[in-house]
Amino acid sequence: MTWVGVFLAALGLLVAAEVSEADKGALVVWHPSKPRVGDVAWILVKDVIDTASVEGSVDGKPLTFFPYAGGHAALFGIDLDMKPGSHIWRVGVVEPGREPRSAQGTIKIVRRDFRVERLTLPNTMVDLDPETERRAVAEGKQLAALYRTITPERIWRGKFTTPIGTTKAAMGFGARRIINGQPRAPHSGSDYSAPKGTPVIAANGGKVVLVAEFFFPGRLVILDHGLGLHTAYFHLDTIAVAEGERVERGQTLGTVGATGRATGPHLHFGAQVAGARVDPASLLGLSLSD
Ligand SMILES: [Zn+2]
Repeated sequence: MTWVGVFLAALGLLVAAEVSEADKGALVVWHPSKPRVGDVAWILVKDVIDTASVEGSVDGKPLTFFPYAGGHAALFGIDLDMKPGSHIWRVGVVEPGREPRSAQGTIKIVRRDFRVERLTLPNTMVDLDPETERRAVAEGKQLAALYRTITPERIWRGKFTTPIGTTKAAMGFGARRIINGQPRAPHSGSDYSAPKGTPVIAANGGKVVLVAEFFFPGRLVILDHGLGLHTAYFHLDTIAVAEGERVERGQTLGTVGATGRATGPHLHFGAQVAGARVDPASLLGLSLSD
């Protein structure tokens, strides 16, 4: 290499360094900037063409991006058991005709204190015989596998709608449950109390990926909205959709019941992003607008 070559190479490094420094502040925006445990946050990578390849992760867990607002966005679900504090994110962009860009930083996750709920249920619903226990565990695993499925197509659009026509607020997301005196798994959804027979509707466009009758959730419908986002509707009395069917936002999925482990008629509404159990209220308040 000539001295001129060395000089140009050094200049190139300098320019590249400057570009990546300048990009660092501008490439990525988090919404909200300080999300809480249980929130659905989203990250926007700005100024990226639709056909670019965008990758990213939080704590090494991959994000799934889609074209949005002149850039690419990805949902990030903050599981109800995720540790508050700083978590490392990384993003990389490869676009035709442009230098690859990358950035990394930390996102601060704010703690949230969940209620402790004490419930009394019939012992047959809590202390399971071995066969029922095996059934419940197998059903739990089937649901967990479904929630981790990342379908590459984005089916949801715009705002998410409340899955039931009620003015009563949903209750109990994240509650640490003590059932018949024993600590149990935290409550991973939100409960709407409503009379039996009240219609239950799809929170957004999606595909029906499971219709079943399981031990704890009772009659249930799971929707896959694409890109790792799922919503769940439990304890239904009747079901009006079939597996494999596409549904629109607001379409009737079934009616409120008290099937499975339920103390009375209510809708248990759950939401998961790539297997992270998130507060459905946060999904309903999502600030993405298309
Ligand atoms: Zn529930």
